[in-house]
Amino acid sequence: MPETTGHAWHDKTVLVAGGAGFIGRHLCEASLARGAEVIIVDDFSTGRVLAVDRLSGCDRVTVLKADVAKPLVDMPRCDIVFNLAAPASPPLYQRDPVQTWRTSVYGTDNLASLAHSWGAVFVQASTSEVYGDPDQHPQTEAYWGNVNPVGIRSCYDEGKRAAETLIMDMVRAHGLNGRIARIFNTYGPGMDTADGRLLPNLITQALNAEPMTVYGDGQQTRSLCYVDDLVSGLIAMAQSEAARGEVINLGNARERTVLEIAHLVAASLSCDPEIVHLPLPRDDPIRRCPNVSKAKRILQWSAQTPLSDGLTHMVADFMRATC
Ligand code: NAD
Ligand code: UDP
Repeated sequence: MPETTGHAWHDKTVLVAGGAGFIGRHLCEASLARGAEVIIVDDFSTGRVLAVDRLSGCDRVTVLKADVAKPLVDMPRCDIVFNLAAPASPPLYQRDPVQTWRTSVYGTDNLASLAHSWGAVFVQASTSEVYGDPDQHPQTEAYWGNVNPVGIRSCYDEGKRAAETLIMDMVRAHGLNGRIARIFNTYGPGMDTADGRLLPNLITQALNAEPMTVYGDGQQTRSLCYVDDLVSGLIAMAQSEAARGEVINLGNARERTVLEIAHLVAASLSCDPEIVHLPLPRDDPIRRCPNVSKAKRILQWSAQTPLSDGLTHMVADFMRATC
């Protein structure tokens, strides 16, 4: 596994767009632990001011409130740019779908153009959603996907696909030092208890002794990656010369049904809540599992944290957040 602490980045300035969000905050902490100066650019649309307040106490952190979909002016020069700015929870990215698309496409254009002008490394947080409702399992990077271009998830899926196109064209045509991480479902402490995604919902419901909501029959699958594993993969992408110009899946290759995940959450809280089945949202992908052989080969990276351990950390965090 790549080394993700120490002082390897003591001479680096790292820009984290979306640094007030769930993954972004963990990435900022990991970058600080590596000795970097960190610039957070965020519009706080789904990110949390309180969480960033903790980070902004550090004199190596600067917080800039800005919408990345609009031109970014007077930005300090950075060595590494991580583009994580985008709402990731389906109910939240569907709340303002036009802004979601603009964030992905215009935001990526703005940030990648800045990175190129600085000669910086650019790491794009893309998503397994580029595979849509996949008809190949597990999904390799060579798979082109099965995406509805005009459905309720398209603002996110097609926004991320267009962003990938733009980055690869900038790599080929302009020499951008870019790389694309296709991130699969990621969970852990620091998720917003109310963001509507699977684990925040299930854990919050179980803690409040409410029924757990499972959409559809619960036989759809997801592969859940613990956030520390994901962050070490993003850092490996930034520092690997072999990752330049590459698209790489980052995720945990252990696939589970949603119903199985609900039972594991109940077990981790030693409770036995009622499960209520609600309608499956439109275009909800039925299977989702990464092939991670490229990440292993290029980055010597794979997810290490068992779901039971990750759930223990996340449940403890949610207990603190809700009491
Ligand atoms: P999140 O919603 O917690 O964080 C996203 C952050 O981006 C927030 O702080 C939000 O305020 C900010 N943001 C949104 N639009 C912005 C804009 N126009 N300008 C500036 N800031 C903006 O989401 P997350 O789970 O931390 O996901 C981070 C990134 O990883 C996203 O790009 C997402 O697409 C990608 N990703 C996440 C997952 C996952 O399971 N968490 C899976 C695949 C991909
Ligand atoms: N889901 C569910 N109950 C919930 C929230 C989500 O059954 O309370 C399902 C959702 O339909 C999907 C899976 O859990 O099949 C993962 O949903 P999430 O919103 O976390 O992320 P997605 O992978 O769909 O982007």
